Amino acid sequence: MAVSKGFRVPGSAFRVFGRAANAEPGTRNAERLHDILDKKLLKECVHCGLCLDYCPTYRVLGHEADSPRGRIYQIRQVYEGKISADDPDFREHIYCCLDCRACQTACPSGVQYGAIIEAARAIAEPISPSEKTVGRAILGTVFIRKPLLDAAGLGLRLYQRTGLQGFLRKSGALRVLPPRLREMEAMLAPAQGGIRRWAAPQVSPARGPVRYRVGFIEGCIMPQLFGDTNAATVRVLAANGCVVFSPPKQGCCGALQMHTGDRQTARDLARRNVDAFDGLGLDAIIINAAGCGSTLKEYGHLLHDDPTYAERAAEFASNVKDVSEFLAAIDLVPPTTPVPVKVTYQDACHLVHGQGIRNQPRQLLRAIPGLELVEMKESDVCCGSAGIYNLTHPAISVELLEQKMDHVLATGATGIVAPNPGCTMQLAYGARRRGVDLQLFHVVDLLDMAYRSGFRVPR
Ligand code: SF4
Ligand code: SF4
Repeated sequence: MAVSKGFRVPGSAFRVFGRAANAEPGTRNAERLHDILDKKLLKECVHCGLCLDYCPTYRVLGHEADSPRGRIYQIRQVYEGKISADDPDFREHIYCCLDCRACQTACPSGVQYGAIIEAARAIAEPISPSEKTVGRAILGTVFIRKPLLDAAGLGLRLYQRTGLQGFLRKSGALRVLPPRLREMEAMLAPAQGGIRRWAAPQVSPARGPVRYRVGFIEGCIMPQLFGDTNAATVRVLAANGCVVFSPPKQGCCGALQMHTGDRQTARDLARRNVDAFDGLGLDAIIINAAGCGSTLKEYGHLLHDDPTYAERAAEFASNVKDVSEFLAAIDLVPPTTPVPVKVTYQDACHLVHGQGIRNQPRQLLRAIPGLELVEMKESDVCCGSAGIYNLTHPAISVELLEQKMDHVLATGATGIVAPNPGCTMQLAYGARRRGVDLQLFHVVDLLDMAYRSGFRVPR
C-alpha cells in the first residue's frame, strides 16, 4: 500500500493518511460525482468512528484512509473539488475497499456506504493493471456477451474435466506461469456437473398445485461453475409449488461491473434484465447469489434517471428476492429426508449487510432433519473474496481468508454453507490451502437433498 504521512481532518479528532491532502484540487470529476451522488448521503456521516472496528481493511491495515470514515471523508473532498479523483492515493484507498458493507450495518446514522463507494468508483479509475484488465476489460466484454462467457466456461470445464488441470498441477508445469497467473489458477474452483453447462428450462412446472409464479435469474458465474446449485434451486422452488420462468434473454446482473466502477455497462445489463422479465406476471424474481441479489435490488436506483426504464426498474427491483428470503417467507413444504452433516454458515456480505438477510438461511437449515448447524465466530466478516478483490488485492484477501479458516476449523464442522459463488470459491480455496477436506454447499443444495427420498450426502 502506498500509504504515507497522516493528516488531520479539519474539525475532527482523527487523521487521514495518504497524499490526498496535498493533491491538486479538481473539479472535472467533482461534477461527474454531483450527477450520480446526492451530497446528503455524504453529510449523513457524523465521523463517530463506530464503524471502524467492523471494517476488515481497517482491521488489517490500521489506516484511517482505509476505513469507512476515512473513505467517506476523501470522497467528500472530491465532491467539493478539493482533491482530484485522479489522485493515485484516492484511487488506491477507494479500490482497497472490499465493498462488503459491514460498515453500513454497523453505522448508527444509517449511512448508505454502498451507494457512496460505488459512485466514487464510477469516477475514479482503478490503479492496478489487474483491476483494469479483469475489472474493466474482461467484465465489460466477456461477461456481457453470453457466447463469449459460454466459451470461457466451456474452456474451464474442459480444462478440469479432461484431467489437464490435475496433470499440470501434479507435474509442476504451472511453475512456468507468472506468479499472479499461478495464484489465479490455484483459486479456480472445481466446476459442478459435466462438460455441458446446465441451463434452466424456460418454464419448469410446479410439483403439485401451483402456489406461485416466479422468475429465476441464472446469473453469469453460477451456470458456468455451479450448475448443480442452479438446478437444485429450480427443483426446490418447484417442490414448493412454484412455476419457475427463466427467460433466455436475461444475462449478467451487472454487480461485478458496478463494484469495479463500470456503471455504464451495469446500466445496460440492468435494462436487458428488466426487459427479459417484463410482462410475465411474477410473484417474485428469485436469485441464489447474494452479490447479484444486492445489485438487482438496486436497479431502481441505478436507472432512476432513465425515463424509459425508471418505473419498470423500480418494480423489477421490488420483486427481487434471494431464494432463502423467499422460502423463509412462505409456508415451506417440510423437508423430510435426513441430511446428516455438521455445517457452519458463512454470511455473504451482500446478503447480510447488503440485503439485511441473516436469519432466513439459518431458519431453512434448521428445518432440515439430521443437519447440525454450528455457528463460527465472526460469520458476517468478509472472507476476502469480494467480487474480484481476491485477484486485485491478494495479500489482504488471503489474510482475511486465513482468519476465516481459523474460525471455520474451530467449529469442527465438516462443511460450509455459503450463499454466494464468490464466497464458495474463496472458502474452497482456503480449505485447499489448509489441506483440509471441507464440503461446500449452498442452502438450496441441502434443501434439495432433504426433498429427495433415500438421498445420501455425497462424499
Ligand atoms: S459511517 Fe456511520 S459509523 Fe462510520 S463514522 Fe460515519 S456516521 Fe459513524
Ligand atoms: S465496505 Fe467493508 S471494507 Fe469498505 S469501508 Fe465498509 S466495512 Fe470497510
